Amino acid sequence: MARKANAPKAYESMVALLRDVHDLRRAAAVLDWDQQIYMPVKGNDARSRQSALLAELAHQKFCDPRLGEAVEASLADAALSPARRACVLEVKRDRDKAVKVPADLVREIQETAGRAHMAWVNARKENRFAGFAPFLARLIELRTREADALGVPEGGVPYDALLDQFEPGATVKTLNPVIERARDECVAAVKAIRGSARKPKLEILKRRYPKEGQEKFSRQILTAMHYDTQGGRLDESVHPFTTSFDIDDVRITTRYEERWLPGALFGTIHEAGHALYEQGLDRAHWGTPLADALSVGFHESQSRFWENQIGRSLAFWAHFYPSLKRLFPAALKGVSLKDFHFAVNAVHPSLIRVEADEVTYNLHIVIRYEIEQAIFAGKAKVADLPALWNEKMRAYLGIVPPTDALGVLQDIHWSMGAFGYFPTYLLGNLYAAQWMNVLRKAMPDLEARVGAGDLLPVKTWLNEQIHRHGRRYPTDRLSKRVSGEPLNPAHFAAYLREKFGALYDVTW
Ligand code: ZN
Repeated sequence: MARKANAPKAYESMVALLRDVHDLRRAAAVLDWDQQIYMPVKGNDARSRQSALLAELAHQKFCDPRLGEAVEASLADAALSPARRACVLEVKRDRDKAVKVPADLVREIQETAGRAHMAWVNARKENRFAGFAPFLARLIELRTREADALGVPEGGVPYDALLDQFEPGATVKTLNPVIERARDECVAAVKAIRGSARKPKLEILKRRYPKEGQEKFSRQILTAMHYDTQGGRLDESVHPFTTSFDIDDVRITTRYEERWLPGALFGTIHEAGHALYEQGLDRAHWGTPLADALSVGFHESQSRFWENQIGRSLAFWAHFYPSLKRLFPAALKGVSLKDFHFAVNAVHPSLIRVEADEVTYNLHIVIRYEIEQAIFAGKAKVADLPALWNEKMRAYLGIVPPTDALGVLQDIHWSMGAFGYFPTYLLGNLYAAQWMNVLRKAMPDLEARVGAGDLLPVKTWLNEQIHRHGRRYPTDRLSKRVSGEPLNPAHFAAYLREKFGALYDVTW
């Protein structure tokens, strides 16, 4: 009897302890947001110290034995609701992982990553991979130790433990068939498109688009997407991002370039897609896994859904193009809707991932994924990475970077010791196509609604299908709930063939 009476209390006390951890982490997020937007350069040292302290306090609180006891006591309660049980199991999963990694290893990774980041910045500036190589080797060694501490799943490889940190449950074995299918599809698409006689007029997007107009348009789109501006704000930063301090305070950033319209345009839509996920979580469960995004791949499925499936569709521009034209009458004078739509959907192999189109983008990801796999399987040495990168660029994209700065050194992730992150970008694209396939059937008038600028039904559908569940179900199960099947790259392949086949008048 005593256990029964205490069990609900155990759940409540678990939630209370978790909310403290959560608030510490969100306070650290405020410091990070400020650092990226307003902080003067000289503030860096103090800020690093303050952020590290908050991270340490959050980690200590999370590993507090009282939290472990509350988790076990909750699980012992047979009357616990299925949602609460799922929640407690997720806390247990996170906590078991957190306590497995020795504190000194966590600190060493953080410190090394801090120095590696500076080394990477300089190496990229000087185009000298050798300057970054020893730090990269050290980070790989530390992450390998971390993977060992976390434990390799049965029949798996050490890299699986790293993938799991971003995409829970993902392993090389399960990801490979999916990623290879997407890779082959994109390689075939690029080849077919390259042979097309149709060429978009990219120059349209490189005309002069004053910042004020871009900002006005960004805000107009945010309103149309039903991003809650009373519970968020739009700022500028070098690298656009979304951050959440609370369901009622979800902020996004963008970057305006006068001579490249798509940057802010699709960057803002992308980040707003992330933000709608955060704003759509279940506030009753704030601070627990039930009000937490399911995975990085799922998060990216939201941003990419809005950016590409909606934001690059003809229906979307049928409605929004006239107002864009009013804001930039000089730049868009005489440019038809059709030409504009083709230009924002141009596909062409390029060197830099973050500037890549929605087809070639995936190949940049595949290259990192394949190289990371080789690294953690002991099949690739750090010194060989630039050559390996260039070889894969030639094989998949048909171009070779002239410098390492434009090649293997371009992305920040490895300098932060983030290995296993890249595949989530690709998963996001695949899931986004899968969601659209379902939404089209569920909402036969979808195109007409988007074409009328009415985006509320899309947002509501995503709220209902994905956001409100938090981490209630594992990724495969939520995918099945939404679409009747686990992740299936065939939907992305069909999407590419339909859209780019028509735009470029090609088949593959
Ligand atoms: Zn994103």
